[in-house]
Amino acid sequence: MTQENQNDIFTPHVPELNLEEHGEMLSEFTTEVLDLLIEAKNAVLALEAIPNDQESLHKAFKVFYTIKGLATFLNLSDIYQLAKNAEGLFDALRKGLLPFDEMVADVALEAIDSLRALLDLLNEQIANHGKLSREYLDVSAVVLKIQALNESAIPGRIRKVIDDKRSGKIPLVSLPVSSESDSRVKILKRQQELIRERELAIRLSQQAQKMAAEKSDMLASMSHEMRTLINAIMGFSDLLVKGDLEEKQKIFLRSISSSAELLLDIINNILDLAKIERGKLKLEAISFNLRDLVESVFQIIRARLEQKQILLFFNIDPEVTLGLKGDPTRFRQILINLLGNAVKFTEKGEVGLTVSLDPHVDNTAAMDRSRAYLRFKVSDTGIGISETKLKYIFEPFMQGDKTIAREYGGTGLGLAISKSYIETMGGKIWVESSVGDGSDFIFQVSFPVDEAFGHETTQDMTKVFDLAAGKSVAVIDKDKRQALKSLCQSYHMQTIDLPLICEESFNVLTAHAQQGKAVDIIFIDTIGFKDDAYLLANKLQQDERFAQAKIIAVTSDIKIGVSNEAYKACFDDYLLRPVIRSEFFNLIQKTFDRSSSSQDATIVSSSETTSCAGIEVLIVDDSATNIELIKAYFESIECVGDFAVNGQEAIEKIKQKRYDICFMDLQMPVMNGFAATQIIRSQISQDLPIIALTAADAPEDKEKCQEIGFTDFLSKPFNMNEFKDKIIRYGRHKH
Ligand code: ADP
Repeated sequence: MTQENQNDIFTPHVPELNLEEHGEMLSEFTTEVLDLLIEAKNAVLALEAIPNDQESLHKAFKVFYTIKGLATFLNLSDIYQLAKNAEGLFDALRKGLLPFDEMVADVALEAIDSLRALLDLLNEQIANHGKLSREYLDVSAVVLKIQALNESAIPGRIRKVIDDKRSGKIPLVSLPVSSESDSRVKILKRQQELIRERELAIRLSQQAQKMAAEKSDMLASMSHEMRTLINAIMGFSDLLVKGDLEEKQKIFLRSISSSAELLLDIINNILDLAKIERGKLKLEAISFNLRDLVESVFQIIRARLEQKQILLFFNIDPEVTLGLKGDPTRFRQILINLLGNAVKFTEKGEVGLTVSLDPHVDNTAAMDRSRAYLRFKVSDTGIGISETKLKYIFEPFMQGDKTIAREYGGTGLGLAISKSYIETMGGKIWVESSVGDGSDFIFQVSFPVDEAFGHETTQDMTKVFDLAAGKSVAVIDKDKRQALKSLCQSYHMQTIDLPLICEESFNVLTAHAQQGKAVDIIFIDTIGFKDDAYLLANKLQQDERFAQAKIIAVTSDIKIGVSNEAYKACFDDYLLRPVIRSEFFNLIQKTFDRSSSSQDATIVSSSETTSCAGIEVLIVDDSATNIELIKAYFESIECVGDFAVNGQEAIEKIKQKRYDICFMDLQMPVMNGFAATQIIRSQISQDLPIIALTAADAPEDKEKCQEIGFTDFLSKPFNMNEFKDKIIRYGRHKH
């Protein structure tokens, strides 16, 4: 053990007096205590010789007196020196070198008490650390010697005075310092109390931190389990939806999927709250397309509307850059939390998202085109929030009020987490609301720009472009933003202007037809116009002149195609609001692509059209349900694969056969995914693409995967297309 370490054991383990940290608690005492401390230390150092005159005795008295209270702040060498001085004092008394008087008796008394206090302190430290060091032995030897002196060698006369003073028979001499003494005694006493309180607080906070760490670990592994199960629920539901089912069964399945998604939201929120509490939230930097992200959020939100006749909308200003870099998962979570609340607390009217440039920043400034400064506004026309509630709705577990909480459900976590995400992203969020008028949750945040992700033109879109161009559409829509009309125009469709009254619109359309002009599609807003929409659609259906036209309901009701008989009688098809481009493309293709025979033609991503045939895949996962799910995926994508249930088995298989790609779960019995991948990389193959199947979505887990040599990761829950994308991306390039 080094000298330093030894000293460590005995240097009192009360943390340094940190004025800032403990400032409030100590403020009234700190200055005086610090003065005393400095004074005492200096005095100890100055007390080199045995006191032999009034002044040095006085000094000694002060030193021993203050030392008693400040013992915890002295380090071992100070204590040692003090003990030596005391020894000198008692030696001098014993040998009669020092003339005895009341003052000397007082000093001796203080010295004995001080040294006892120091010895107690040292003993306490020994008890805590269980070790003896040379320094301790030195000091305690001196102290013991003095005690022995006190007991036997000090002349009886002196002892008597000391004893009398102790028992209060003789008062302590009134020294000049004693006027300060009272306040000093109080300060020192209080200071000792504070030290004890602080020690207790430190111990409690350490315990709390330990428990928080345990809680986080437990949450992380619970979340792993839950995500794995949700993966199976969502995956099997997806597969079933694609099968030959009645519309009604499909609706049930969608409910299962959307409930699973809601559950996933809650799990994500809880898990992230634990990370935020521990200051461990790390954001990712991944490129994404803002419009794609917003559309995917609205697909989820739409499913939560249930029977509510609310107009859902989003509007992204044209000057907003769409290709951005950030943490899309967290960003999606913010939007889902805010829009989910807006839908939850709104019964009628509108709920929507507006994305614009941050008005406080000059986005066009040439100096910084590499960042987009954006403002997001989630608005609703719902119940609103009272002024008192506004103060605490961003606090975790705080809900507006208990009755509202009971009626609407929820965990009270969404806003707290969204706020933390936004602040971690460097932005800010606030709310403007009044009871009965609805609420606006506004946040500003900036992202680095990634132009490559801003473009949307793909081969399939070009095809839709060709199909749509020049077609004639009529849109009767109460939404003042006229998003659908603008979308049609952006595809070079000719739009016919209609008045916002169904009857009058019918007249305009018939006049149009009489001029011999065809109308290819008539979009009718069934939420804005309600019964009138059905009347208009019915009239158009009955009219020979519109036999060629497709009459399309624009609605947010995802169940319209199932239970609504009126819809079936009046409309040819429906388009969900807010309009999502891929759904719009599907409709255009269904309507105009005569070559496509299938009723359910869908625009497919390039990976959907690419085959996986011939790619040898190894799946390593211990969950039987997951294996079942992946087998079903394999059937759908015409892929062949082998399975292993732990890392050890995977290694055996990889040694025997050349695979094109391997998907590896991380947590498995016998040998986990990390260990297996390390062995594969060091002993078998540097190039085999190994994709981590991770249930934890944290960047730090991903970093660990990268370090170990995983090629990529697939976060659970994943759907078939994401799974297939990885197979095609990595497995097709035979290595
Ligand atoms: P919860 O899971 O309860 O919705 P949140 O943190 O998301 O938790 O919201 C906290 C509380 O803030 C809600 O319980 C509700 O009282 C209030 N709140 C949030 N958004 C809205 C909104 N759009 N309209 C009215 N009240 C809202």
